[in-house]
Amino acid sequence: MPRRKLLCGNWKMHKTRSEASEFFHSFTKRLGNLSDVTRTVDVGFGVSATLFDTCLTGVHGSGVKILAQNCHFEAQGAFTGEISVPQVLDAKLSGSIIGHSERRQYYNETDEFVGKKWNALAKASLLPIVCVGETRQERESGKTFDVVKTQIEQSLKQVSADARDKDFVIAYEPVWAIGTGLTATPDQAEEVHKFIRDLLSGAFGPERAQAIQILYGGSMNAANCKELLSKPNIDGGLVGGASLKAEDFALMVQTAKDLS
Ligand code: PEP
Repeated sequence: MPRRKLLCGNWKMHKTRSEASEFFHSFTKRLGNLSDVTRTVDVGFGVSATLFDTCLTGVHGSGVKILAQNCHFEAQGAFTGEISVPQVLDAKLSGSIIGHSERRQYYNETDEFVGKKWNALAKASLLPIVCVGETRQERESGKTFDVVKTQIEQSLKQVSADARDKDFVIAYEPVWAIGTGLTATPDQAEEVHKFIRDLLSGAFGPERAQAIQILYGGSMNAANCKELLSKPNIDGGLVGGASLKAEDFALMVQTAKDLS
């Protein structure tokens, strides 16, 4: 069975509740019935905790996923400012983005930390979208494959056998392409996606690896998404800036739908 495409917005620290409501109003107007859309493609949004309820209301009953942008691996405790997996579950979210390069860069998140979050989310049957990717310096010194391999393998060490059986998504996000307007060429991205799929094949077996969605992230937009999404191992996008405007993101979802 061909893999479904997943387009997931990453709103980062953007939008108030009224802006989020307005977004979904406009998004729905442009795409029509969202339930029809999710029959063909997967759509999601990683949003701030203050927006969970507003976004869930905005997509109610449509199958569009609302996700956290981060979570903690401990179920509860003295971790000021954090959100636990049981809280993500209680909020009726579909999962969480984890290991985003901004979390790694500004909050020193390690592969071990990311793996613990992956484990906790998967055990709760929530979807982890696990972000990996190299910096510009790493790419220029020919370390892209090593970096991505280490990030996935080190994180996986924290994921127990039962949690490994649960769904997850990998987002390949070259750090040099995030929010910079620089996009990996479709060939550059495909090369790394193929490498990741082969790596997953070694860890999970070829059949399972064929079913895992691998997203590209890094300045993907309405103009460049068709070429990227047409590559055989690019199963969608994790989209920052271009997901903030309903018009742009609706066009991207429509492109994914047309390609499906
Ligand atoms: C991201 O933050 O995951 C991202 C890909 O951002 P942008 O699309 O703005 O580069």
